Amino acid sequence: MASHHISLATDARPIMSEIAVFKNLIFTPPGKHSYYRLYGLWACGKCKKTWSSAHTYVSLEKYKNQVPAAELKKDWDYFTQKCKKCPKGDSVGHITEYKHLREKESDSEEEVEPDTKRPHISSLCEKCKQGFRCVDRF
Ligand SMILES: [Zn+2]
Ligand SMILES: [Zn+2]
Repeated sequence: MASHHISLATDARPIMSEIAVFKNLIFTPPGKHSYYRLYGLWACGKCKKTWSSAHTYVSLEKYKNQVPAAELKKDWDYFTQKCKKCPKGDSVGHITEYKHLREKESDSEEEVEPDTKRPHISSLCEKCKQGFRCVDRF
């Protein structure tokens, strides 16, 4: 597929000293490796639509090693999300870039959502579909 250039490359990959891991953002499903909640930019390979999600879970190991999104393997290195109402039919998206969630001033562990206005669509999220719901509300 055609390469997709994202202009956020400068701040998307933090330098090593800036890498922080917040325990409350780590998710480890039974029998699998740990995932780390991040802010991801997604693209559909079929219709080229893009979206972002604050419920993007990438392999913690890959995050720590700053593996570029293009080298991540679907379903193994991250939970996939489907393209919403894809005009090309059923299509699973891929991550084009990821970065850490912004920290709020407050210490609240829940205040890590950069965009609370857009609800998470569980029906498009593989993690939710496997029963590991990202949000409590439906
Ligand atoms: Zn699509
Ligand atoms: Zn989800």
